[in-house]
Amino acid sequence: MQPGYKSARNLAARGTPRTLRGPMKREKRLTKRERKALSPGGAPNPNEQHIHCVACGKHLDPANFQAAQGVPPAAQVIKCAHGSQFPSCTKCVPVSQALLDEHDRSGQPVKAAAAWH
Ligand SMILES: [Zn+2]
Ligand SMILES: [Zn+2]
Ligand SMILES: [Zn+2]
Repeated sequence: MQPGYKSARNLAARGTPRTLRGPMKREKRLTKRERKALSPGGAPNPNEQHIHCVACGKHLDPANFQAAQGVPPAAQVIKCAHGSQFPSCTKCVPVSQALLDEHDRSGQPVKAAAAWH
């Protein structure tokens, strides 16, 4: 046998068990940590929050707030005098605005309608 071939076999025989036993365990631990970090830990996702019109309580989707090709959005966000934002159907804006005005006059919480779907 040639010396070079022999030494190459020895390197392969030593290297294989090391990569299987040592680093593999560390990689598995890291993967578990990464999976834990990726999985939702109970933090509220803004995209999954329910949005309801303050005037009529109708459920609104985030897409409803975006105008599409000349069509005005079905819903919009209005602000009270304190700068707080409230979702409202576009057709409910006058009613919603009245609720916010009453809230700003009285200092009471906005009397939002009960949510429905
Ligand atoms: Zn809802
Ligand atoms: Zn509404
Ligand atoms: Zn306010």
